[in-house]
Amino acid sequence: MPRFQDGPATGLFQPVRWEGGLSRGALAAASLSPEMKAALPEAPEGECVCRGIPFSADHPVLIQGQRRTVSFSGLKARWLIFLHTTDRSPLGENAHGFISPMRGEGRLGEIACTYRLRYQDGHQETLPIVRRRQISVFARRWGENSFDAVGHAKPRATRAPHEQLGPEWGRKQTRVDSADFPPFLCWLWAWENPRPNAPLTELECEPGSVPVVLFGMSGGDAGSNPLRWEGRSKAILTLPAGVSFSPDLDESGLLRDVSLDLGQVISAQPRPLYPNDGWDASYNNMLPRISDREVLIEYTAHPEAVFHIAGGRTVPASGLAAFAPASGRGGSGLASVAPSRTRVRLRIVERGSSKPVPVKLHVHGEAGEYLAPVDRHRIPNHAWFEDYSVDFSHRGQHWCTYIDGETVMDLPLGPVHLEASKGFEIKPVRKRIVVDGSTSEITVELDRVLPWRARGWVTADTHVHFLSPVSALLEGAAEGVNVVNLLASQWGELMTNVGDFDGKTTWGSREAGGDGEHLVRVGTENRQHVLGHISLLGYEGRIIAPMTTGGPDESALGDPVGALLSDWAEQCKARGGVVIVPHFPNPRAEHAAALVGGRVDGVEMTAWGNLYGGIDPYSLSDWYRYLNCGYLVAAVGGTDKMSSDTAVGTVRTYARIQHGKPFSYDEWKEAVRRCETFVTYGPLIELTVDGKPMGSRFSLSGSGGTLDIEWRAQSVTVPMSRVELVVNGEIRESVAADPWTAEGRWQLKADRSSWVALLVRGHYPDQPEIVAAHSSPVMVQVGGGAFMAAADALTILEQIEGALAYLDTVGTRADTASYRRMRMVLESAHRSLHNRMHQAGHYHEHTPPADHPEHHR
Ligand SMILES: [Zn+2]
Ligand SMILES: [Zn+2]
Repeated sequence: MPRFQDGPATGLFQPVRWEGGLSRGALAAASLSPEMKAALPEAPEGECVCRGIPFSADHPVLIQGQRRTVSFSGLKARWLIFLHTTDRSPLGENAHGFISPMRGEGRLGEIACTYRLRYQDGHQETLPIVRRRQISVFARRWGENSFDAVGHAKPRATRAPHEQLGPEWGRKQTRVDSADFPPFLCWLWAWENPRPNAPLTELECEPGSVPVVLFGMSGGDAGSNPLRWEGRSKAILTLPAGVSFSPDLDESGLLRDVSLDLGQVISAQPRPLYPNDGWDASYNNMLPRISDREVLIEYTAHPEAVFHIAGGRTVPASGLAAFAPASGRGGSGLASVAPSRTRVRLRIVERGSSKPVPVKLHVHGEAGEYLAPVDRHRIPNHAWFEDYSVDFSHRGQHWCTYIDGETVMDLPLGPVHLEASKGFEIKPVRKRIVVDGSTSEITVELDRVLPWRARGWVTADTHVHFLSPVSALLEGAAEGVNVVNLLASQWGELMTNVGDFDGKTTWGSREAGGDGEHLVRVGTENRQHVLGHISLLGYEGRIIAPMTTGGPDESALGDPVGALLSDWAEQCKARGGVVIVPHFPNPRAEHAAALVGGRVDGVEMTAWGNLYGGIDPYSLSDWYRYLNCGYLVAAVGGTDKMSSDTAVGTVRTYARIQHGKPFSYDEWKEAVRRCETFVTYGPLIELTVDGKPMGSRFSLSGSGGTLDIEWRAQSVTVPMSRVELVVNGEIRESVAADPWTAEGRWQLKADRSSWVALLVRGHYPDQPEIVAAHSSPVMVQVGGGAFMAAADALTILEQIEGALAYLDTVGTRADTASYRRMRMVLESAHRSLHNRMHQAGHYHEHTPPADHPEHHR
């Protein structure tokens, strides 16, 4: 990035020029991480303007290994601004992927370097440069900002898509253009000559009521009106070995590599290669391989149209050989895919019932072509905020939709391959069905295998965006998710779902006309890019706003920091809501204070679009710190679904409704508050410690005793591999597990205060092992001993100090009163943990006091 300039330079600052420092070449040759080296060409260079402040970046100083000194002549300034960054350092995970002490990838609190400024009179100022405070890494993990420093580029306003692309953003999602509204439209009319063999010699044109311009004529032969195209057809284009298909468009917006004369290509995409022969044995949502030589073409054309393929080859559409799965290897050319013209009613029921049930559905034909119901997208759009249709586009490769249990489809004759699933308790089905001329209805039966619902457990996704409440209700029911928390929020200048928030309605409840089994409630996710995000679920009354503060990227430019996560959380709790820290732990900052202050009910393990990543040990390591210090908060699962590439409930919360109580949204909130929860990507678990359920707290007197731990784990989706016992953040027991069902008992000697949780690992055969499920803990206090891990407490204190520093330094301020009030909230959380730590007999070196002379002025 030679000469980085993000706007004009202020006259208030001058670049500091020094003697010493490296050439760019020497910096590039230094011993840095490969990632930093690769990014160096993007680093500021030469005369730069960063946030309006001029710098000369020609002679960087590499602070590594030994002291470096540069000299100035007569530098005087009230403010010195440092343009600096760090390399990354390895995380130091243990064999289980856990990190302790957990300072985050940004290594909050570590000293990156120390600056000593010497004055002409011999005086010296020492400036410790602390990571995630005065400096951070050159490529930060999302949610690990600096508290006292800002990025070198200014935040900026961006234009809405229609302002960048013309007023067509919404229209473009239709993926069609009738093309009959150009600035100058001529009309084509085809006349069928009754005497085709008789020569014509003249055309006479006589004027009528309006001037007419005839631009030309064309004559030819065709079996039917050359302007009438037939319905959609599909073909497989096999490219010669070594040739790859280009998705590029030509100047008229058409595909360059394949086109039709009397017709149009609708779509062209690499052919998905599904395991059709072993379809019944492959697993739900398993991705197809993607062919690098075959392209699935969809088109509409006159019967005598001709394909024009890159390289000048032409193939008549009428002369295509039928696609046969086994052939196509070796040769190149076009083969036709069996047309989908048999209209079939499809019904999905639970065995023993005739009532259709909502499911996620995928159907494809012999060539791997996706077959959508007649009222669903044939080409789902998984871009962010472009389309909130009820589809699931797994990594853009495996397309599915949600139906209410009954739908109408146009299918090809011959075999079709169907997938239907409905959450983690019903066995997903992959089934081959042969359609023949007499097929008009297909019924598929599903089996409910695991009885967790019958034992009082209900499932929830704590974090879904953009869907309408009714779409969320369908997707939730089809994924077997009982509670979908749809979160309104703000994204810069964009407000989403705010019209769906009314602070009272639970969609799907009996009061709202539903069956009471699947519920949707609109809450809010309130967000701040440095301090963090907080999800406020199921609260009553008016929306808790502003939903974002402090500027981009979450909030609008110029928004001051007028509220803390702690403030939002307190309002939510006061109005009967449940408070969740979403996509825990990042942004990794002020939620430490909210948690220590008792304002948080749960921390959320998040999937986004990843079905195979499992529960991230990064998230667990961070949660364990709070448990180690005695702060019991539930583990919950939420997807943060923002587009169709994420399925509702990919990772989900199981919470147990109190015995004897009917399921309702209020009872679900109670279960989360009680921490009787586990998080899962598939395996279902039960755990008791001395007969007490997850989320319990109890005491043993004296020197403790032996705890009786009983557990059970079952799955119908992700195969399990190991079941482990986590005690105070460490794996204490580990046993190999049968993929589908396992149970056991352990005796655990507890001679100090301990928390105990169950962890299940598992994986699909072709995927890496993941943490597939994790319970909330049972906390056992022994002999009145405190839960206090000093190393963890220190890292939590550092987070709160960071949040304070942000308020004091670079956070945009609202008014003085709210600034002071927010400081007090954070100071009080800091004090409470700090005091507890000292009461437990842990002493530590105090970090330099957060003294910021600027705020006294
Ligand atoms: Zn968020
Ligand atoms: Zn979110």
